Amino acid sequence: MHADMSLAEVSVGRLAPSPSGRLHLGHARTFALAWAHARSRSGQLRLRLEDLDRERSRPEHVQRIFRDLEWLGLDWDGEPLYQSQRLDVLREAAARLERDGVAYRCICSRAELERAAQAPQRGVSEWRYPGTCRERGVQHQGALRFRVPEGPIAFVDGLAGPQQVDVSAEVGDFVILSRNGVPAYQLAVVVDDAEQGVTEVFRGDDLLTSTARQLLLQRALGLSAPRWFHAPLVLDASGRRLAKRADDLSLEALREAGVDARAILGWVGRSAGLSALAQLTTPAELVSAYDPTHLGREPTVLSAADIAAMLALRVR
Ligand code: GLU
Repeated sequence: MHADMSLAEVSVGRLAPSPSGRLHLGHARTFALAWAHARSRSGQLRLRLEDLDRERSRPEHVQRIFRDLEWLGLDWDGEPLYQSQRLDVLREAAARLERDGVAYRCICSRAELERAAQAPQRGVSEWRYPGTCRERGVQHQGALRFRVPEGPIAFVDGLAGPQQVDVSAEVGDFVILSRNGVPAYQLAVVVDDAEQGVTEVFRGDDLLTSTARQLLLQRALGLSAPRWFHAPLVLDASGRRLAKRADDLSLEALREAGVDARAILGWVGRSAGLSALAQLTTPAELVSAYDPTHLGREPTVLSAADIAAMLALRVR
């Protein structure tokens, strides 16, 4: 190895599925592209099970995720991380923000929050917490909210381009720990990306609006920010996002129907602008063809013809 190569930063990506349902073709696309993104530059890839939602997370979904990834041929490095096993670390991060005075306790009742949510906001579609508890000075009870500084946050997304988000105007002080001590997604993702040494976050466009919140938490915790890559989502023929409920298009159902995993990678690659790829594409072929400049910004529509083509290539 050349001396200058050993000095180059090794990029570390991650797959972070939530085991709260079956994975579908939308997940397959995001994960296959995230995997190719890392592997095409000899980067590493970590796996994290985002299983903090105790009611929805199920061990059988975790097992399905392993089977789905293995079937598609998407591998990862090191041991998977389970967020549910890191409650102490995540709670300590929240406690540190509280000690530092950048998080405060909120005892707003559901009714109060609902009233605030109904108040019309100036051109703001997402609900904004009005900061009711900011000065209440509550100790030791209630949820913890992060005290959002005023003004826009700017960052450059590797796929979506320059972004500017005013978290204080759009979302307000957001919850980082629920009143019963469950760390919120925004906090957990930041602490665990740092724990896993993640330098590049490749994920779906639905999380682009969360990125500024995560940047604020990274700054407050003194963590370095990864580079961000938000890929367009998959829509069904009626223009709706594929949902976990779309069980008939789950990877498990397709596998059980005898679909060839290479047909899924072929669809993923071609839908990502890699038009030279064959209908049956191996993981290695996806990696060598991968080029994020072809990805585009428009969501991908999964048509009945796409599904029929996958089913036509059944192995049994
Ligand atoms: N667990 C999240 C999901 O399945 C992804 C979180 C992330 O990539 O930051 O939607």
